[in-house]
Amino acid sequence: MLDYGPHIDWIDRQQPQMVQRVEEWSRINSGSHHLEGLARMCAVLQEAFAVLEAEMEVLDCDPMAHVNGAGEVENLPLGKALHLVKRPDAAVQVFLGGHMDTVFGKDHPFQETRRPDGRRLCGPGAADLKGGLVVMLTALQALEQSPFAPGIGWEVLINPDEEIGSPGSARLLTACARRNQMGLLYEPALADGALAGVRKGSGNFTVVVRGRAAHAGRDFQRGRNAIVALAEYTQALHALNGRREGVTINPGQVEGGGAVNIVPDLAILRFNTRISALEDRQWLEEQLIGLDQQFVQRDGITLRRHGQFTRPPKPISQANERLLASVAECGRMLGVALVWQATGGCCDGNNLAAAGLPNVDTLGVRGGDIHSDREYIMLDSLAERAKLSALLLMRLAGGEVRI
Ligand SMILES: [Zn+2]
Repeated sequence: MLDYGPHIDWIDRQQPQMVQRVEEWSRINSGSHHLEGLARMCAVLQEAFAVLEAEMEVLDCDPMAHVNGAGEVENLPLGKALHLVKRPDAAVQVFLGGHMDTVFGKDHPFQETRRPDGRRLCGPGAADLKGGLVVMLTALQALEQSPFAPGIGWEVLINPDEEIGSPGSARLLTACARRNQMGLLYEPALADGALAGVRKGSGNFTVVVRGRAAHAGRDFQRGRNAIVALAEYTQALHALNGRREGVTINPGQVEGGGAVNIVPDLAILRFNTRISALEDRQWLEEQLIGLDQQFVQRDGITLRRHGQFTRPPKPISQANERLLASVAECGRMLGVALVWQATGGCCDGNNLAAAGLPNVDTLGVRGGDIHSDREYIMLDSLAERAKLSALLLMRLAGGEVRI
């Protein structure tokens, strides 16, 4: 075995700085739709990643089609992505990805970090995914300082819209997938430290029902109530749950109506779906079309459904299995036992896999309660997981690991 020891030991000495970075980055509000916050986060990342002396650029993302509260489709601008490339001509090419956005909007009350005990740090995005960005950066620093670096080229994309399904960066991710042989993503590991294996796919939809407004006293019979029609639609939609294994539908948000003396002419439903296999998608699409048909023929009611499947399911291909096994082997060399398990959650790893790139997507920190105001990171996992990635990168560079 080649001597990785000094470079692994160097990471242990970075632990205080890594903790400081997570704390600092977590305090920058970078909700997916908070463009100024995202720009601030991007600038801080640029400064930190400059140490890698890679080719670095800030890339535009496509705008996102969004159904607004008036039921109309509008284009929302999104933040920018940070992109780095180093040694694109090396024999081994690896993609490393993560996101700078969080689920916590500009006005969300969860803005500050705190230390509930000596081992944890609570903060917005501390685990998902700012801790992961610190892990990625530190692992790349260790690689670049090592004599193994010339054997491997890498490309980094840090996107600003992962938490909303990466609608604006999908194009960039697909391009990255085509240029590389494998992908490493820095989503947090599952709460017990396990890596994610099989992942479900996901889709987001918005249904806009329009009826006919009328005075609730004088003209009630002439009105066509959009809320009542949408309520019926929602019940029928929910009834699809349990009809096919591995498929779930979650009606998540409703809006509509106004003054109670008016028959409401607009109601909007937003829902999320999860599927386990590609064939589920066709089944569900057929069900949704059938459901739409039942409502569009009604007198005075129109229904339009917007949206799409944004992330295909992520099965475990043979190449993916080999990559997971190599990560587990690196774990063993470092005394960290790693297992992987299926999850209903999905991430950019789904999209990369669909574009043909085998990838491990939970190489970030250990933590828990993500997407809640109790989100925390286990601080000792910063050095632990940075060592894991650094060792994997160095072994890939040295030819000890092949995918
Ligand atoms: Zn995430």
